[in-house]
Amino acid sequence: MKRRTLMKGAASGLALSIPQVKIAQGTMAFAGSIENIQRLRVGSATVTALSDGYVDIITPQAQVLQGIDAEAYEQTIATSGRGAGARQTDVNAYLVEMIDRKILIDAGTNKGFIPTLGRTQDALVAAGHRPEDITDIVITHMHPDHSAGLISEDGSALYPGARVLVHELEYDYWVNGDPVSRGRPDMEVQFQLAKAAAEVSGDRLVLFSGEDIGLPGITAVPLFGHTPGHVGCVIESDGDHVFVVSDIVHQSVIQLKHPEVSVAFDVDQNEARKTRIKTLDRIATDGERIIGMHMPFPGAGRIERAGEGYRWIAEEREYF
Ligand SMILES: [Zn+2]
Repeated sequence: MKRRTLMKGAASGLALSIPQVKIAQGTMAFAGSIENIQRLRVGSATVTALSDGYVDIITPQAQVLQGIDAEAYEQTIATSGRGAGARQTDVNAYLVEMIDRKILIDAGTNKGFIPTLGRTQDALVAAGHRPEDITDIVITHMHPDHSAGLISEDGSALYPGARVLVHELEYDYWVNGDPVSRGRPDMEVQFQLAKAAAEVSGDRLVLFSGEDIGLPGITAVPLFGHTPGHVGCVIESDGDHVFVVSDIVHQSVIQLKHPEVSVAFDVDQNEARKTRIKTLDRIATDGERIIGMHMPFPGAGRIERAGEGYRWIAEEREYF
């Protein structure tokens, strides 16, 4: 309610900076943050980046980053020129407004999962949208930071009117399997939350297998490895496009510089590594505009070659 008052007031101009500060200090679940929202233009479509929050566990010390030791990690972070924020990994979701549809690309995380995550729907509402108006949700893969945000804290559906689109290999791996049958006892929570996300979606769940996912202007791109049905997508409008690369990178400072470094929660680290190396090479060569779910918010930019690896070139904010 407070937020609504603030937004209404924002139209009337200058006097609003004071209440805004008060609200930011009074309601935040974690220090210094407000709902992060950033609009991006793709042709005549509007893509709104929605911050779900961040995590700071993508390190070798927490045994999440694999293939780099603590010393090399610390040195890479310290010399990145990116500051202390380089230790934190953003979790982003995106709203695509195209023709008559409001399409979410990923749903972020359930609020109960990790205290610094779970803010996608708050960001969506702060951007002026109603959750019940979301028509479709493309789930790039069923990890909790992308699909558990379909579920409210009381277990109901957060987007009751939306079709939920998931690759059939992804659904099969998580929903028709379990940590024992898949040989991943470390992924108990991931299986539980993926099953819960499928269950809450009920008959609104739509499985796809190819590039055509039945949405105007959005096609799926297989990026298998991180999970068996992990996909990116291309958003296309009026001759313009952006490639949503989803989770080919989790720690952008480290994995762009050292693309061979992987994460423990890759279902298949070798395949994920191959996909990352191949995809980064292609998008650097093409100079293609990309969006990444774990790139620094709002996650839009390009990569260029730097030494053996790559460097992130964030695009400038456009006000519109
Ligand atoms: Zn992720």
